Amino acid sequence: MLNINHLNKIKSMIDHQILIAVTKYVGEDEITSLLDQGINDFGENRVEVLLDKLQMYHEEDIKWHFIGHLQSKKVKKIINNIDFLHSLDRMSLANEIQKRRDKPLPCFIEVNISNDDNKYGLRKENVFEFYNNMKDYDKIDIVGFMGMTEHTSDESIIREQFQVLLDLKVEFDQRFSKNHKLSMGMSNDYKIAIEMGSTHLRIGSYLYEED
Ligand SMILES: *Cc1c(COP(=O)(O)O)cnc(C)c1O
Repeated sequence: MLNINHLNKIKSMIDHQILIAVTKYVGEDEITSLLDQGINDFGENRVEVLLDKLQMYHEEDIKWHFIGHLQSKKVKKIINNIDFLHSLDRMSLANEIQKRRDKPLPCFIEVNISNDDNKYGLRKENVFEFYNNMKDYDKIDIVGFMGMTEHTSDESIIREQFQVLLDLKVEFDQRFSKNHKLSMGMSNDYKIAIEMGSTHLRIGSYLYEED
């Protein structure tokens, strides 16, 4: 069930940021309640689940954000039905999108800000080369950077890791004279993310938790 108090608490903290309601754990009831509350940005991380929801809500005015790891072989199933990709992290994926997408797709480059070998995302050292390569890809529109902090209650670690993304933004804004966006902040760290300049919050579990 959607927790309206939690939704309103987040709404009261944001002004220009976009709240992406992550719906991967929930179904029709919650999505309907979110739409009733004026939320139109939804995040999913699994291709099959997204396909079902696309079909179910095709008449609604929804922006679909694909936020999870996307296997290249599944790109063709969804790529022309999403509005944003938050997990662009490798050339093979970019090549497949370039081949399959029919108009430019706004994409965030996913950066491995926790420096964990088991996590997806480019190392920050490799972002510049990847970004430059994307100039030749007319179906990919790099709008900014996405990152996930490691799961910890230590605020200083969370801040340190978001700072990596913020530093990239500042550097790339200057180099490319463009205002890049930051996809950062989940249920456990969205307050810090807002403080540190997030433009796109991806929040799931907190929206459905009981008080
Ligand atoms: C699940 C998920 C979220 C939301 O996480 P919560 O902790 O439930 O808010 C955000 N981003 C990605 C990439 C996810 O997979």
